[in-house]
Amino acid sequence: MSDGLSPNLQHLETSTTIAISAEAKRRKAAGEDVIDLGAGEPDFPTPPLPAEAGIKAIRDGRTHYPANEGILELRAAAAKHLSLLSGGRPVNADHIVVSSGSKQSLFNACFALFGPGDVVAIPAPAWVSYPQIVHLARGRPVLVPGELEWSLKVSVRDLERMLPAPKGLILCSPCNPTGGVYTHAEIKAIAQWGRDRKVWVIADEIYRRIHYGTGPAPSFLDLPDELLERVVVIYGVSKAYAMTGWRIGLGLAPPAVAKAMCALQSHTTSGANHPAQYAAAAAFADERVEADVARMVAEFRKRRDLVVNRFRQELPGAEFVEPLGAFYFFFRVDSFGKIAGTEFCTRLVTQSGVALVPGAAFGDDRWVRLSYAAATPDIVRALDRIIEFAKKLGD
Ligand code: PMP
Ligand code: GLU
Repeated sequence: MSDGLSPNLQHLETSTTIAISAEAKRRKAAGEDVIDLGAGEPDFPTPPLPAEAGIKAIRDGRTHYPANEGILELRAAAAKHLSLLSGGRPVNADHIVVSSGSKQSLFNACFALFGPGDVVAIPAPAWVSYPQIVHLARGRPVLVPGELEWSLKVSVRDLERMLPAPKGLILCSPCNPTGGVYTHAEIKAIAQWGRDRKVWVIADEIYRRIHYGTGPAPSFLDLPDELLERVVVIYGVSKAYAMTGWRIGLGLAPPAVAKAMCALQSHTTSGANHPAQYAAAAAFADERVEADVARMVAEFRKRRDLVVNRFRQELPGAEFVEPLGAFYFFFRVDSFGKIAGTEFCTRLVTQSGVALVPGAAFGDDRWVRLSYAAATPDIVRALDRIIEFAKKLGD
């Protein structure tokens, strides 16, 4: 950052994931044959029912400021939906704050809970925005490396080593960038540690529905209330409902935190896009949308199998995390030759026309992230190129 800017921004860098996606679009517009497997957003259109509900909301004149915390229809639909996903546990709509994307929910939660010097543990590799958001709150992000033999997840043992205990933990499951998924027992153990050590846990469950096991991925909301007193759950419609551009996310927090998040939002952006909230409410409330979600998840699963099988068969020895959720494949490149993720990605996009995200964006440049939220023929063509490129590196 250049001189003259506020110290608030001293650590600020543009989001690499967004920058790579923009660069791939620029190259394509300039006529280059570039396949973008960098962007982490579904290639599917928004299902028709939420889309129509958004259009109807505009026609019905829902075009003025909405309630700051979000419209009741959406908060009630989200509460019911989250309750159903977790076996009918009660979820209180009053504890939900709707924001302009779950990125804002995360920002609100971090800003409400963390301040100057507060240590916030972030299992690494970690989604690019977590450390940045903690820095913006003047907190101190501390990356806790995940265990290689354990899908790069962290255990309570890893967290226990942090002494004194951190003020907060941001946990992403299913995980961006690895596709790893924490089990119910692992989540419970982390929640118990958080309760005992008085750590605020921000559980980013935006990919919860994109799970290749049975049902939705395990959640903090599957735990009893006594383990949730310091837990904020982040959720939204961007990923499972292919609604990234509608910009609706939500945070479910203990009442005092929800109130603070809401007050913060009242001075920054106010209530989220009003018609988009009706679209999101329809996504959660209309059972027919479930069939669309199931269809998209089934398609992601096929693509995951495609990527994993081709890596296994054609690049034996390549290390990767077995993806059990989200739509990312995280593989290690230093075994292909002495190359780091950043160089791998730069050369791959210039020489072979495939955009991927280097692990540096997530705190470990031995790795590279491939997003398979792209059309299958594009994935097939991209894999041909990646495999050829990686084989040449090994020669
Ligand atoms: N959390 C994670 C882990 C993500 O990958 C994303 C994707 N941008 C977000 C939060 C934010 O999503 P959105 O703001 O679109 O809800
Ligand atoms: N979450 C997506 C990704 O990781 C979208 C871009 C972003 O918001 O970072 O690619």
